[in-house]
Amino acid sequence: MAEKSYLDLKSEVWDPGRCSGCGACIAVCPADALFFEEGEMVTSPKSNGYCKQVTDGVLCGACYEVCPREGDQPSDTLGEYLNLIAAKAAFDVPRRQTGGAVTAILTNALDEGLIDAVVTVTEDRWTQKPRSVVITKSEVLIHEAGSRYSWWVPLLSSLKNAVIDKKYRRIAIVGVPCVVQAIARMRASNNDLIKPYATSIRLIIGLFCTETFDYASLVLGKLKSEKKIDPTQIKKMDVRGKLEILMQNGEKASLSLKELESCVRKGCHLCTDLTSLLSDISAGSVGSPAGSTTLIIRTSTGSSFVDNAVQNNKLIITGGVDKGEIEKLARTKIEKNSKNQYKVIR
Ligand SMILES: Cc1cc2nc3c(=O)[nH]c(=O)nc-3n(C[C@H](O)[C@H](O)[C@H](O)COP(=O)(O)OP(=O)(O)OC[C@H]3O[C@@H](n4cnc5c(N)ncnc54)[C@H](O)[C@@H]3O)c2cc1C
Ligand code: SF4
Ligand code: SF4
Repeated sequence: MAEKSYLDLKSEVWDPGRCSGCGACIAVCPADALFFEEGEMVTSPKSNGYCKQVTDGVLCGACYEVCPREGDQPSDTLGEYLNLIAAKAAFDVPRRQTGGAVTAILTNALDEGLIDAVVTVTEDRWTQKPRSVVITKSEVLIHEAGSRYSWWVPLLSSLKNAVIDKKYRRIAIVGVPCVVQAIARMRASNNDLIKPYATSIRLIIGLFCTETFDYASLVLGKLKSEKKIDPTQIKKMDVRGKLEILMQNGEKASLSLKELESCVRKGCHLCTDLTSLLSDISAGSVGSPAGSTTLIIRTSTGSSFVDNAVQNNKLIITGGVDKGEIEKLARTKIEKNSKNQYKVIR
């Protein structure tokens, strides 16, 4: 695989519209040659034209190797797991998306010194613009809880900052399934250029994800220009069969998913992973009662982080979950998007 370069990625993933926007290729490029441009519906990265492999004939192939859109896409609903529970934070997480369980597990891990940093997505509170960040303090994590649906920011680009610049060696990542797939490829790789990333990642928390929206198309286009909804006044967004918006003054607005079709990121149309099949712990809302987070604990690593948070009274297990409900949503996503696998998405 090492003789592949960004040109192969361009022809196989960027040009046919298959890119998910995870940012893994940008993170691992040793020449810092790949980047995302700002703008509306930016579907894939670009290259500045320099490439170790192509320009200098030095073996690399790092970008190609980590891309989750190379190879077959998954077709499983729940995947392998050890335990399936509903849980919530044992303390107040004002901005939590569902039960705050993700924040509880991660703050406990930071406070206990089990991890050095969390790589995740937050947003600018005024513009709702998402940004990829490295967080090292539990109070910041609590302040930044909640889901970002208008997500185009390549999350994994900040991984480079955490691994190469800051030299953190016990990193937790929170990501949607395409990000989790890219991390799994890093962990499975023998490429020396990728090893520092693989060995620095201690925990992967994967969020459930049906689709994400392009920030400029959704927030600036659909909400601000068309619906006259001021992004600076949005308190919370949630997607439950429709987009529900809670404003700072308590007013509510909602938009049907049909209305939002043009804002969905192109690469999401061929994604068949709802539950982050390759994570240590997956987290979602479907399957649990309101106020709790569904947790799929998949690995012994995931299990030990959850157990530790429960023992330290940070996380409360509230009961079991409706497995059928999760499988139903996962199957719907697989059926909808499997047919797009070999299409060129425009
Ligand atoms: C784009 C998107 C789509 C989703 N779709 C579904 C769905 O269809 N069905 C379902 O059941 N659940 C879905 N979820 C998951 C759900 O919204 C909650 O994230 C999950 O239930 C965990 O809730 P929590 O209260 O425990 O998390 P919290 O305690 O609120 O913590 C959430 C953590 O996730 C991080 N985060 C937020 N947005 C992102 C992002 N885009 N990428 C990476 N990290 C992020 C935050 O920084 C925070 O650390 C989706 C989440 C996202 C981001
Ligand atoms: S899916 Fe991720 S790794 Fe693949 S080209 Fe897109 S941003 Fe790069
Ligand atoms: S639907 Fe798939 S491709 Fe789109 S953001 Fe979610 S995990 Fe990534």
